[in-house]
Amino acid sequence: TTPRIPLMAGNWKMNLDWKQGQALVEDLGDALKGLDSSKAEAAILPPFVDLRTVQTVVDAGKLPISFGAQDISEHEEGAYTGEISGQMLAALGCTYAAVGHSERRQYHGETEQVTNAKVKAALKNGIVPILCVGEGLEDRKAGKQVATSLAQVEGGLEGLSAAEVEKTVIAYEPVWAIGTGEVATPDDAQEVCSAIRDWIRAAHGDSAADSVRVLYGGSVKSSNVAELMEKPDVDGALVGGASLKADEFAKIVRFQD
Ligand code: PEP
Repeated sequence: TTPRIPLMAGNWKMNLDWKQGQALVEDLGDALKGLDSSKAEAAILPPFVDLRTVQTVVDAGKLPISFGAQDISEHEEGAYTGEISGQMLAALGCTYAAVGHSERRQYHGETEQVTNAKVKAALKNGIVPILCVGEGLEDRKAGKQVATSLAQVEGGLEGLSAAEVEKTVIAYEPVWAIGTGEVATPDDAQEVCSAIRDWIRAAHGDSAADSVRVLYGGSVKSSNVAELMEKPDVDGALVGGASLKADEFAKIVRFQD
């Protein structure tokens, strides 16, 4: 089996207008100069309105940075005011789209069904969905972190073929660790990430399980990324706050240096 290349994905959330985004991607390009693409992949998920600028900077500089969207419409096109389609994102060169981020689930009422439809919309347009799952504090306290996360994986991947599952990225993001400064221990991350891979192996076979990248997300910083990455089933990180500074995010991408 081919080794899984670590993926460090920076979720900018609703930060940085297009000019600020331009400055950050330029600085990040400088900081990642000479990155060995067999060692790690850097990706950024800017706000929709920054994507055209990011595409232009990345293409012009041939920067070692993939990019994508923080969300994607479940619909193809038409009368869906305010939505952005997979076709539009593909035309902007998006490699990825985050789907089912806990902030979408919490504040925008995204159900399993909607999340599943968005995963399918991404795949249909050649975009890799980064399916975000993870338990809240109540479920963590009740010891239900694995069951809750697996139910979200199962719901998000419903109806997909093994070949489609193989292309997806899963991000395990315990809600209590997002934006709180409270990072999960490496063992906590490994417990759920390995359970996710086991579930994929049972449902979709070895090839899918061995190819899928399972990321950890929740207060990842340059100071804690290396110990998380030592765990065998943690294949990268989804990074919020720490992705807004070029030097800090570049250090995360270069965790092996
Ligand atoms: C996120 O939003 O996906 C995230 C992990 O945020 P933070 O790194 O800020 O906790």
